[in-house]
Amino acid sequence: MNIKVLSLFPEILEAYFSASIMKRAVAKGLVSYELINIRDFAYDRHRKCDDEVFGGGAGMLMKPEPLDRALESVGAPGVRTIFVTPSGRLLNQAMAEDFAHEDKLVVLCGRYEGIDQRIIDTRVTDVVSIGDYILSSGEVAAMVLIDVVYRLIPGVISGESLAEESFSSGLLEYPQYTRPEEYATMHVPEVLVGGNHAAIARWRLKASLIKTLAYRPELLNTIDLTGELGRLLKEVIDEGGENEPRTANSGRTGEK
Ligand code: SAM
Repeated sequence: MNIKVLSLFPEILEAYFSASIMKRAVAKGLVSYELINIRDFAYDRHRKCDDEVFGGGAGMLMKPEPLDRALESVGAPGVRTIFVTPSGRLLNQAMAEDFAHEDKLVVLCGRYEGIDQRIIDTRVTDVVSIGDYILSSGEVAAMVLIDVVYRLIPGVISGESLAEESFSSGLLEYPQYTRPEEYATMHVPEVLVGGNHAAIARWRLKASLIKTLAYRPELLNTIDLTGELGRLLKEVIDEGGENEPRTANSGRTGEK
């Protein structure tokens, strides 16, 4: 996938693309990227990219001309072009999976109060928010969006890891533990070290239900709760499942 990010501060993104899993994905040729400075497309003497908002109001807005030229240079609107903004469609895993199918992605970062609407109308294909809060700029949001998407590209992360993550099944991921088995007097739940794979699978499913019920109960409305899942959910509720999940030592998820 080729990712082009348009920003007034591309240096914020440089470190992200040059480290860790992204660095490996770039080295393997799974991802290529270009960081484009919108200011390079401002042709006046001061390379001005912002101006006052028509109709009044606090703050400045990104001007259309530099944005228009910058987006034209990357082929927008003929390419999937995402503008990150709090007033967009809320990002979720399904949306990320859709973006991950693209060969090319353009991500536009806002600053100040955002960008002139005419650019959104003519050059942007997707208007995406990463959450119901306001960041000071689009670079952080762009990194979140890109991170959620590129790790779904085959070869970046092992398929097994992806399949077991939160949201892949509609539930939050179960709690996990690593060595040592006893830490600061807390023990790893016994079932996880017993080697009984069916019991481990059941424990994990139940622990996922406990966590989902406590933190994100609305997710339960989106999955099929008949059969084993429904029985386990009833068990969780009967045991007081809406409490904070604390599984180490607590024995709350039961079976040995
Ligand atoms: N005036 C805007 C509003 O109320 O919707 C907020 C502008 S914000 C201070 C500046 C830029 O940060 C936005 O143009 C956008 O690119 C980015 N941004 C802030 N919060 C965001 C969020 N939750 N999701 C995506 N982008 C965000």
